[in-house]
Amino acid sequence: MSCHRPEAPVASSLANRADHNPFAAMQPRAPRATPKEARNGARVIANHVAPQGVYLPNYNILTPYMRSPEYVQMSTAAAITLGIVPGRMYRCECTRCLNLLLTYPEGCRANCAYCGLARHREAERDYADRNFIRVDWPAVPLEKTIDIVARDGAAIPFHRMCISMITHPRSDEDTVSVLRRWTERVDPAAIPVSILSNPTTMRREDVTRLRDLGADIFTVALDAATPEIFDRTRGKGVQSPHSWKKYWEILMDAREIFGPQKFGAHIIVGMGETEAEALALVQQLVDLGGHSHMFCFFPEKGSLMDHLPATPRDQWRRVQLGRYLIDYRGVRVEHMRFDGEGRVVDLGLPQAELDAVVEAGVAFRTSGCPGKFADDVSACDRPYGDSPPSNIASYPFPPAKRDLTKIRRQLRIVPRK
Ligand code: SF4
Repeated sequence: MSCHRPEAPVASSLANRADHNPFAAMQPRAPRATPKEARNGARVIANHVAPQGVYLPNYNILTPYMRSPEYVQMSTAAAITLGIVPGRMYRCECTRCLNLLLTYPEGCRANCAYCGLARHREAERDYADRNFIRVDWPAVPLEKTIDIVARDGAAIPFHRMCISMITHPRSDEDTVSVLRRWTERVDPAAIPVSILSNPTTMRREDVTRLRDLGADIFTVALDAATPEIFDRTRGKGVQSPHSWKKYWEILMDAREIFGPQKFGAHIIVGMGETEAEALALVQQLVDLGGHSHMFCFFPEKGSLMDHLPATPRDQWRRVQLGRYLIDYRGVRVEHMRFDGEGRVVDLGLPQAELDAVVEAGVAFRTSGCPGKFADDVSACDRPYGDSPPSNIASYPFPPAKRDLTKIRRQLRIVPRK
């Protein structure tokens, strides 16, 4: 197995000649109704096939009946790093973050338009067989995962573990169970734990409980940069239960409970917001004491947005660099200048300083919760989670000279060297 899979070009992204994804162009498809016999994991539950160890997604061929907390899913990169599946990753030795995704035959009960795990796919794929951020997610017994990490101790390359919740009635309780079982055998000081939360099912007490059980960082996958895009992609627009208001409520709870630098929000760039809107949100999060973790929109196969263009690289690079300057270099969004369509025309830093930041390359690496190398280097490197290796959006490794040449060309606002 490899994270570097040969793949056909994404036709929609090649067809896109614009230098940004405007709101009007990024309308998701409407979800189709699912036949009754395929709803709520009915096929998996009716077949009731017992799982036997690791399950590799194989698309509706008698998917076994697996549930968290006994089972979790993990990225292909994490499974390769743990030695659970054989494989290699393009230009990466390993991933530094072990993402554990809760799993149930009923799957996620939300319908987010850009997500491969969304409910509308019930008729097409059993839950454990769905692609998510471009790759398969093998399902693995939690105890087997913990056994490997506990056995390997300091030799394990992970700088962080992250429990990723989905929208399911059991999600809150099972997140607690996974966290408990993990911290009983793995020292959270050695491998800190992040929570990628699902605010829709959570109350403030749930946030407190996770902190008390040893979670280090709490993040909210806001994903959309504006309330309109949120509603269109993960709320009423696609018959999904999420609301902007509830997400912000839990984000503000996390701010108080976890404290400064220990909370953050995910933002997907290129779903119809302007560059000015995305960077204003980044500034808002910094002013609150938190961080933003940024993803480049990629049309996930099977999602309600798989017909839409990936974020053009120049839009992505400008916002990616702007975020880094706001998060780590003290630049404020008010120092930046934007054109009439909200595109960055000036990042608010003298050219020589900007060149030095670009040259360092860290700004273009995957963003997320920090690891052990440096505050501004994320443990969560998600190899090729938001782009193919042939046109990398978030670099899961330090960009080399040839990468920086490409990045400068993509940025457009920074003169080429
Ligand atoms: S809640 Fe998360 S996992 Fe569920 S559909 Fe939305 S983005 Fe995907």
